[in-house]
Amino acid sequence: MFRSLHMKLVLIMLLLTTSLMTVVGAFLMTNVTSFYIDSFYQQMDDLFSGGTFYATLCAEAAQEDGAARLQTVLEAYAGAMGIDSRTRNYYILDGSTGAFLTGSDEEGGRELAVTTNILTARNGDVGDESNISAGYMDVAIPIRGGDHFYVLYVLDNRATVNELNSQQFLIIGQALLVGLMISVLLSFLLSKTMITPIERLTERAERMAGGDFDTIIASDSSDEIGILTASFNNMASVLKDTLSAVEDERNKLDTLFLHMTDGVVAFYGDGTIMHRNPAAVTMLGQDPIDLDYNSIFGAIYPFDQVLSLQRPHSVKREMAVGSKFFEVYLAPYSDEEDSGALVVLHDVTAQRKNEEMRKEFVANVSHELRTPLTNVRSYAETLQDTEDIPREMELTFLDIIIGETDRMTHIVQDLLTLSRLDSGRTELKMRRFPFADAIERVCRAVELDAQHHRHSLLRQFPKDLPMVVGDQDRLEQVMMNVIGNAIKYTPDGGTIQVSAGESGGKVWMEVRDNGIGIPQEDRERIFDRFYRVDKARSRESGGTGLGLSIARELIGRHGGTIGLADHQGPGTTVRIVLPIRQSGGLEDGHE
Ligand code: ADP
Repeated sequence: MFRSLHMKLVLIMLLLTTSLMTVVGAFLMTNVTSFYIDSFYQQMDDLFSGGTFYATLCAEAAQEDGAARLQTVLEAYAGAMGIDSRTRNYYILDGSTGAFLTGSDEEGGRELAVTTNILTARNGDVGDESNISAGYMDVAIPIRGGDHFYVLYVLDNRATVNELNSQQFLIIGQALLVGLMISVLLSFLLSKTMITPIERLTERAERMAGGDFDTIIASDSSDEIGILTASFNNMASVLKDTLSAVEDERNKLDTLFLHMTDGVVAFYGDGTIMHRNPAAVTMLGQDPIDLDYNSIFGAIYPFDQVLSLQRPHSVKREMAVGSKFFEVYLAPYSDEEDSGALVVLHDVTAQRKNEEMRKEFVANVSHELRTPLTNVRSYAETLQDTEDIPREMELTFLDIIIGETDRMTHIVQDLLTLSRLDSGRTELKMRRFPFADAIERVCRAVELDAQHHRHSLLRQFPKDLPMVVGDQDRLEQVMMNVIGNAIKYTPDGGTIQVSAGESGGKVWMEVRDNGIGIPQEDRERIFDRFYRVDKARSRESGGTGLGLSIARELIGRHGGTIGLADHQGPGTTVRIVLPIRQSGGLEDGHE
């Protein structure tokens, strides 16, 4: 039950009481003794210092039986001298020999010790030197009368004061006991008033450590403990606010960390992994939690060099994981010695691919334009250099030059269309139109060409297909391109089947031919710019390799899809799907 603070308080009170009583006791006892001694000497002084009593004594001493006479007088003054035979006695000594003659205590007189005061008196002076440490007090007075020389010696054995002191000691002892009891009681009471609020504070602090910041400690007092309690309550509320702000920040960071598209991996100072976000796991192709820095990034930058960087400096490196490319930013997260490192992974695969595509595109454009340009130049030079060129040949050459120029014009026009689509500058003239009519118009337009190649052009679609909202000219351009391709890439005498229908709020159109078909490995790429399965054939038939890419862009702008459909048998099937009603940014036009 004695807790440390209680115990300390009790001990302090006990020590305080004991020391106080000891000091008071010692002071009292010393003072009582001094007072007793002082009053003894004062009494003796009053009696003997040159007054009538002393003169009487001297006169009596001058008689023949001086000692007996002195005794008689002294007996008469015994009361005034405080002689009680028990504690205080007088002795008459022979002044020259120091021998005991008579006195109030015969027995004691015979064993009388020779004190300094007796010697002083025998020398003729009053011996009244007091000594507090001695166990007695005495005074020796020389009495001369005629030829007689006596010494009156008064000796007090201090029994009275000693008894008084013992009594006092007992009283002080008892008082000490009571005092000690009171102080124990008081210290308990005191400790209760002081320690209970401290205990409450301690309990609150423990609760706070456990995360409870809401309990308020009530305190009405305005003393130091009251101020401490108020400060503690205030501190708890500030701490709660601060912690909740920190928690908010942490939550924000956690959310950011969790959902950011860049990968983040944090390492401890020893290179083991502290954190990694889902993006990092996806990018690295595995959960790196059991790996360390060296096994993941050691090859691109040493760990100790990352740690030796000064914030906010970081190092940028690149690394490839599988078919992906990453920009990697490495930095220490603190300037402390035992800091760790943060690594941020930024996926630049698309960027790289775009760059490659751009390079490829530029190379393709240059190549596509160079061929007709070379042809034009060589035919023009031939015309220029050859004299007397037959008119027929001249016309053929000029035809070729015009054909090549047309090709270049096509390419440039297609490129312009694509560039406008890319930059969003193409304005679609949206309006509601019957889908079946548009297909019919395109079929009629290509009919002659199909007949020219002896293809049978089959139409398989209901006339009452729903109306669609879109840019009719552009959509017809796409259909024309797809049917045109079917005509181009089908050997003469083939069958081209154009079918259409409606399903799930969408309309679809399929163009199926039984032509040369597209090899499996090229199926994905025919919508890429300048991609052609058979370049020579495409060129021969005036293709630019841009038709399907323009088609995909346009259909995409209408919220639809275009792709190859899987069908049994030889040939190719291209399928276009369009939503019946446009949603989002495209608005209905006039009807
Ligand atoms: P092109 O101007 O060369 O026709 P496209 O973008 O229209 O360009 O077509 C890309 C390539 O897809 C063509 O060069 C051709 O190799 C292939 N292709 C398109 N349609 C067909 C089809 N119906 N049959 C076979 N190959 C086709």
